[in-house]
Amino acid sequence: MERTIAVPHSEDEYASFVEHPRYGRRPHVTGLNPKTDFRAGVVLHWHSPKECRVPNTAIFADLSRQVAATVPVTHYFDVVRTCRDCGRSFLFFAQEQKHWYEELGFGLDSDCVRCVPCRKRQQGIARLRERYEELFHVQNRSSDENLEMADCCLSLIEESVFHRRQTERVRILLKQVVQDPDEHVDSRCRDLLARLRAFEAREDEPSGRRIIAEGVRHSESS
Ligand SMILES: [Zn+2]
Repeated sequence: MERTIAVPHSEDEYASFVEHPRYGRRPHVTGLNPKTDFRAGVVLHWHSPKECRVPNTAIFADLSRQVAATVPVTHYFDVVRTCRDCGRSFLFFAQEQKHWYEELGFGLDSDCVRCVPCRKRQQGIARLRERYEELFHVQNRSSDENLEMADCCLSLIEESVFHRRQTERVRILLKQVVQDPDEHVDSRCRDLLARLRAFEAREDEPSGRRIIAEGVRHSESS
């Protein structure tokens, strides 16, 4: 999925870039455009080669705040990236790099490989997995815990992290709560069951139809 992408030649091309909630989708022009010059002490980031660097967007780095590296970086540029998950283009902003390397304490080796929505999705999946594992080890789970575990499990199946045969586990978990007289529990249980059936119905469609349907969903969301 990853490919090298050249910097757009026209402003219009940024219109299709994934928007960053804080920095937007277009380059931030500063007018600063240094070139690597070791003798003059100018070092640009090795993950920002010329072909993905947006000209005139450099900002100064504060070397005293970077995590110690063999070669510190003196300037950051807005750079073009292609998201590893969705394949769309986005900018890894100079300001964002400054934030990563000088405030969050990330090493200069860290690179941004996913757009913001995909990063959030990835973090959501990590949290679901963690919670699922936790609940898995709980002895005598309450109805609420069984429901939460079924929800985590189904979400992970929907995200294709878990195999679809894990739907059996979702059913087993739901069977354990079905006798609960609590109205709230009962309605959550019904919702999950409906989601489970909807997932299975989608999966059972002939693959051709499914691909078309997914294509439609993709173009709707983009
Ligand atoms: Zn993405």
